[in-house]
Amino acid sequence: MNIHEYQAKALLKSFGAPVAEGVAIFSADEAEAAAKSLPGPLYVVKSQIHAGGRGKGKFKELGPDAKGGVRLAFSIEEAKAHAKEMFGNTLVTAQTGEAGKQVNRLYIEDGADIARELYCSLLVDRSVGRVAFVVSTEGGMDIEAVAHDTPEKIHTIAIDPEAGVTAADVAAISKALELSGTAAEDAKSLFPLLYKAFNEKDMALLEVNPLIVMKNDHLRVLDAKMSFDGNALFRHDDVRALRDETEEDAKEIEASKWDLAYVALDGNIGCMVNGAGLAMATMDIIKLYGKEPANFCDVGGGAGKEKVAAAFKIITADPKVEGILVNIFGGIMKCDVIAEGVVAAVQEVGLKVPLVVRLEGTNVELGKKILNESGLAITAADDLDDAAKKIVAAING
Ligand code: GDP
Ligand code: MG
Repeated sequence: MNIHEYQAKALLKSFGAPVAEGVAIFSADEAEAAAKSLPGPLYVVKSQIHAGGRGKGKFKELGPDAKGGVRLAFSIEEAKAHAKEMFGNTLVTAQTGEAGKQVNRLYIEDGADIARELYCSLLVDRSVGRVAFVVSTEGGMDIEAVAHDTPEKIHTIAIDPEAGVTAADVAAISKALELSGTAAEDAKSLFPLLYKAFNEKDMALLEVNPLIVMKNDHLRVLDAKMSFDGNALFRHDDVRALRDETEEDAKEIEASKWDLAYVALDGNIGCMVNGAGLAMATMDIIKLYGKEPANFCDVGGGAGKEKVAAAFKIITADPKVEGILVNIFGGIMKCDVIAEGVVAAVQEVGLKVPLVVRLEGTNVELGKKILNESGLAITAADDLDDAAKKIVAAING
């Protein structure tokens, strides 16, 4: 789950991180009061969407010469004008895709005088099984280009979970970021607290880009992108409360209510599978036969009839879906339960596209019988390969 920059900054502030004063607003009318509550004379008006690259982004409704989604203002009047221009418009950035995202929240922040823009992120480095800092002196808006063109400028410092962030770790990060003087002093508290926040809140990613050295040589978190491990959200009521469903794919929201592992993709074969490995294999084999999956959907091992029906409805609700492949190995989950769920869902929502079902495992004969006797136009398949061929053939007509 992702949250907005202003929420991430408030969370980091609660751990003691240096962030600017700022006010989140939900309509342009609130801009004046928000700006007036800040010290000035420099204000930053920042679009709050769940995507990065806002500074270089473009608003669809405004001309190509209009400013981007992060704007400096040198007076309250100018901050108001920016807010008015940005609200309700669609920001397209390198991360939003062509459709862009509508800006419904802005963050007005006290502007900082920047000396250097650095990059700092924390993530789970699976290669070493540790949380790691990834840092670079080349922060700001082109970090992707830095990673691509000059990877040697990006440093990874993995943290021993038992020791936490040690003085030696801070020294290594500070060296990589070429920090000295006041900034190096600030680093001694900043990096351990970022790590603490990351662990305590079960984050999957914390990206501070840029982390800045200000003209007064203090460090400040200027931008913050945060995502949380969905499997740990149950123990963080405060984090769940920050969820902005308008930023998420409607199908993924519905899926999360049913505890389905569902990810929307760009292709047109809807997949319903149990087990992540089988889901990956199913997507691969669809590609092998020249088509693309419309989604990843793992109904899990112990799903009941209602959950299967919910998954089926979510898949069929996607207008891109031209055919559906159900590929289930009934181990813990029995094939007859799957069959009943599929039949119930089809009876409820109808079936407008070809459906191929491959069942194997416990109660497979009973499952096939239920499908065959349902009177629905379901194509049975014998194995994975057969299933993929049949659904691709059905779509190709
Ligand atoms: P992003 O484009 O979505 O990553 O948004 P950021 O929050 O990182 O802002 C983009 C850029 O705007 C930064 O890299 C800075 O160059 C600039 N910027 C943001 N806040 C300030 C500020 O307080 N003062 C100044 N001078 N520039 C800022
Ligand atoms: Mg940024």
